[in-house]
Amino acid sequence: MKVYIQTDLEGCAGFCFYQDFQDKSPEAYRHYHRMCRLLTNEVNAAVKGAFDSGAAEVIVNDSHGSGYNIIFEELDPRCEIIHGRNCSGPHWLPMLDSSFGALVLIGMHAMGGTEKAIAPHSKWEVNEGEIFMSEASMAAAIAGDYNIPAVFVSGDNMLTKEVKEKIPHIKTATVKTALGTYQAKSLIPAKACELIYAGVKVGIDNRNTIKPYHIEGPVKLRLFESEGHIPPLKPVLPNAIEGDNVNEAFMKFERAMPWTTFDVNISDGFQYPSG
Ligand SMILES: [Zn+2]
Repeated sequence: MKVYIQTDLEGCAGFCFYQDFQDKSPEAYRHYHRMCRLLTNEVNAAVKGAFDSGAAEVIVNDSHGSGYNIIFEELDPRCEIIHGRNCSGPHWLPMLDSSFGALVLIGMHAMGGTEKAIAPHSKWEVNEGEIFMSEASMAAAIAGDYNIPAVFVSGDNMLTKEVKEKIPHIKTATVKTALGTYQAKSLIPAKACELIYAGVKVGIDNRNTIKPYHIEGPVKLRLFESEGHIPPLKPVLPNAIEGDNVNEAFMKFERAMPWTTFDVNISDGFQYPSG
């Protein structure tokens, strides 16, 4: 059985605010590196849980920001990782197909507009308000189109609550309780990793009893974002994007985003800083 691990950074135990990219101080560097280490350890716990539940292959997708956050030198060498900047393909769930048996979600954050959640952003709207989804639920719905169950999710208390309402049998690990947008009461990372390891194991063991999160098509999608993490939310594109199913609508949406140039083999313009 193949297991796909989708990752983000904001939902890790210990994360409560971002690094400041304008700040070139050692403190700012240390902050970001420390967050990456928290994510790496949580991913390792999930990878171990997956293999201990009989996975034959585990693919990790490094999906936050640059797609180059996980300290992969420290990852369990049995897994493989998809990472790097994307200019020519979708950065979400690349290589996911029906050959996978389970989806695991690590470090997820609550949807945009959620009160008392850590760094909430991205609010997907399905069919003019029928369903609202976080990035975690969207990933579960994309996997659902392939008939793959999302078996585990970790993040703050608001995120795990939202996902569990949609997928009642999913195994969750609430690794922190949000006190505000950038303040949390968090488990110590070693404890969070224990919960993640045990939860992933149970989730994968129970995969046949967890229904894939499938949304009947056709669907109309809109994405809402706020300035920073504070409402009001505004639509990212002026019109809803329609598709026969979530996957098709999502891919059309991604293609319509100004920063996406799928299928075009061009340099993304990155240059090492000089001087
Ligand atoms: Zn992120």
